[in-house]
Amino acid sequence: MQRRDFLKQTSLSILSLPFLGAFTSYIPEFSKNDLLGKSTPLLYGKGYRLQKEAHKAFLKMKKAAAKEGINLQVVSSYRSYAHQKRIWERKYKRFTKQGLSPIQAIEKIIQYSTIPGTSRHHWGTDLDIIDGNQKRPKSSLLQENFESKGVYYKQKIWMDKHAQSYGFYLVYTSELTRKGFKYEPWHYTYAPLSIPMLKAYQNIDIHQELQQNNVLGSQYFSEEFIKKYIFENILDINPSLI
Ligand SMILES: [Zn+2]
Repeated sequence: MQRRDFLKQTSLSILSLPFLGAFTSYIPEFSKNDLLGKSTPLLYGKGYRLQKEAHKAFLKMKKAAAKEGINLQVVSSYRSYAHQKRIWERKYKRFTKQGLSPIQAIEKIIQYSTIPGTSRHHWGTDLDIIDGNQKRPKSSLLQENFESKGVYYKQKIWMDKHAQSYGFYLVYTSELTRKGFKYEPWHYTYAPLSIPMLKAYQNIDIHQELQQNNVLGSQYFSEEFIKKYIFENILDINPSLI
């Protein structure tokens, strides 16, 4: 489905929700804390946590994939600010212990992991997916597993063909000119919710949030670094999601 058609259908289906009334246009509202992973949102799912609409869409997609012998399994979904902080600090400690300077450590972390408060996993819309029917490799979330000889290739082909019709889009695409986070063939977002969330997120003063961020290494977040991080890591994603 073309994105424009998809969005048209989505907004029509939202508009047809009875409680909104015929003349109300639906603009979802998210608090700053929701967007930064600092609230306690209502989440759904067995073994994973997603917003209600995203969960419903995921179950539909899972059912369809199952008919093709693919068991879509979520390995990561909602993550709080505190959780992301633990990931960040564990990596920061490991890399600086290995001899990297603080700035080198930060550059290495942000190849795949986000600064707490900037993860799309804070939104309950994004998820990392593998095929539970395959024997799980030591590290599942590697690009090679999703390539032609990899265990998740069948999943990738199916998702390339069908995920968008359920509202799920890859965020960090294989587009060579894309900067920011590396290609993540496992990371999908439920676009009908995450597109407005990214819009709302852009109204937050991220500069201020990151500079006030009390995480290991945050004293090295220069103005220049933050500007580049926002431009490349937050906004240089699949253009369908902007
Ligand atoms: Zn992810």
